[in-house]
Amino acid sequence: MSTEFLPMPDDNGYFGEYGGQIIPPDLKTIMDQINDAYEEIRNTDEFKNELNDLFIHYVGRPSPIFHAKRLSDKLGGAQIYLKREDLNHTGAHKINHCLGEALLAKFMGKTKVLAETGAGQHGVALATACALVGIDCEIHMGEIDIEKEHPNVTKMKILGCKLVPVSRGTRTLKDAVDSAFEEYLKDPVNSFYAIGSVVGPHPFPKMVRDFQSVVGNEARKQFMEMSGKLPDIAMACVGGGSNAMGLFTAFIEDETVELVGVEPAGKGLDTADHAATLTLGTKGAIHGFECYTLQDDEGNPLPVYSIASGLDYPGVGPQHCYLKDIKRVRYESIDDKECLDAFMELSRTEGIIPALESAHAVAYAMKIAKDMPKDKTILINLSGRGDKDADFVADKLSL
Ligand SMILES: *Cc1c(COP(=O)(O)O)cnc(C)c1O
Repeated sequence: MSTEFLPMPDDNGYFGEYGGQIIPPDLKTIMDQINDAYEEIRNTDEFKNELNDLFIHYVGRPSPIFHAKRLSDKLGGAQIYLKREDLNHTGAHKINHCLGEALLAKFMGKTKVLAETGAGQHGVALATACALVGIDCEIHMGEIDIEKEHPNVTKMKILGCKLVPVSRGTRTLKDAVDSAFEEYLKDPVNSFYAIGSVVGPHPFPKMVRDFQSVVGNEARKQFMEMSGKLPDIAMACVGGGSNAMGLFTAFIEDETVELVGVEPAGKGLDTADHAATLTLGTKGAIHGFECYTLQDDEGNPLPVYSIASGLDYPGVGPQHCYLKDIKRVRYESIDDKECLDAFMELSRTEGIIPALESAHAVAYAMKIAKDMPKDKTILINLSGRGDKDADFVADKLSL
């Protein structure tokens, strides 16, 4: 089985027919330099030790695995385990790849790291990593999002990054991407564009996956130590797909482990308000790579929606597209209501308030666990904590 998955991607950055570099030639040159630099340093002791040290002493790795006994008992079926990425410094898995990217930028001698952010999660994680590594950081964010996401905006300012408000177009994520990218193109030699998930042109889907693979590598070992066997199912929510790839990579060759990715069905798959890219999308290209996308007849990305802002992206990581096609991973979806129910249930049975993104995975596990035998196990990547969502949920449910 191993040759089917590794090495992935191929030299051109393809996972089967997905991925690649759908970008102008001069930018391709820059991306190839990033790939060369990454391949050169990824296995050096200096880089590995520095990143590993930060994972341990800064992020707080390894994050524990927690057996959610009360929730499992209540459902009356399979045993649910949580990989606690919510306990990381900054409260989610994103810090894992942001540290990797910031370190790579520093090793390459870049002087500035650039990115866009939607809800501000990627912005805060990157600003944190850049503060630590000691490199300038510039985050582009739509004016509407700036109004909506106050705590994250404040954090980015405190962390010392340059926050650039984007006033064009819809003044949200899509325009922030364009704005950040234009800024990057002004000086791609000295700056580094830090992509926030396993998306974008090669080598980003590979690099971000590699930085996140620490999650699955830890989890596989921890789970074995705890229960003497592998989980029956490993599960994660899928926006761009980084926390899911981080978990799945360690289990991909374990044929007995079923892998499940959970997408946001929003207000329903029969409405326009969802972001179930792998479930309902078609093959296309977006932001410099080929993947399943939610697109109109001309190939333009459709507006997408999820109650969890970290999941509303009209594309998805190329490796997920490949894993769907070869049927190694099953992709399911969970709507807003199911997500909110799981958010409350996990909070009230285990005292763990999950991110709304992560609650999608919890919801799907809850859905299937009750019909499974009690000795079966489900391992969920709890990608982040729900502090950022607490006020919104309380408001929504009139608590
Ligand atoms: C950003 C985010 C996600 C979605 O991103 P992926 O790349 O799909 O992992 C999921 N969970 C949390 C907590 C996030 O902040």
